[in-house]
Amino acid sequence: MPMKLLVSEVFYSIQGEGPTIGTPSIFLRLSGCNLRCIWCDTKYTWLFSQKTMNELKQSIPERLHYMLGNKVYDRNIETRQVTLGELGKLFQSFPSKHVVITGGEPLLQEKPIHELIALLTPKGYSFEIETNGTITPTLLQNRVQFNVSPKLANSYNPEKKRLVKEALESFSKLNSYFKFVIDKEKDLSEALSIIEAYSLPKHKVYFMPQATTPQALREKAEWLIEKCKSLNIKYSHRLHVEVYGGKR
Ligand code: SF4
Repeated sequence: MPMKLLVSEVFYSIQGEGPTIGTPSIFLRLSGCNLRCIWCDTKYTWLFSQKTMNELKQSIPERLHYMLGNKVYDRNIETRQVTLGELGKLFQSFPSKHVVITGGEPLLQEKPIHELIALLTPKGYSFEIETNGTITPTLLQNRVQFNVSPKLANSYNPEKKRLVKEALESFSKLNSYFKFVIDKEKDLSEALSIIEAYSLPKHKVYFMPQATTPQALREKAEWLIEKCKSLNIKYSHRLHVEVYGGKR
């Protein structure tokens, strides 16, 4: 049986944030996530049942229900099992050989990702993986760049689920960058305490403004850039929000 990945979508764009910002990239979005961030903008990778929606609604204050929306996605429409060979062929139709594997949470599918990378690296492809930082990689340690986005309390995931000591400590020792999406002043202090508590390498940390429209992004950018200057932490803009807003 050929090895397969559970895929949500494949598209071609530029990396919108972090250390490789601006790089033309093939985006491989995988389906499935082990967290349930209330503001998640890719709920079509995991919100497949009314039961999950109801449980989420019960776990957060009613004033925040609007963030969840009402849409429950159809797993059969939103996900597809794709063989590694099929992905390799599809990738050939794009001009870039740089692949950003995102999700959902890609590390739920570490084994087939490992195989995909083994298959395509000799053909000149390079890879980075976007992860929520809760799963320790066991196969991919030295093969890729990890972009780790630890989730804050505003995601409404239980703390022990969103901050996993062993995983964050492993990423700190690997080729990893850490990205925090900052909305308010209190997010800044929370991010700083996570950086300290898990000894994250400060020179590899980026703060990015939370926004879903170009206008809101620019307003928050001005505020956050000043904060980054005084904290001596790198700022990253979010080009995809600047150019495409919240469009899928
Ligand atoms: Fe969505 Fe990412 Fe949170 Fe998963 S970790 S729920 S994909 S924002």
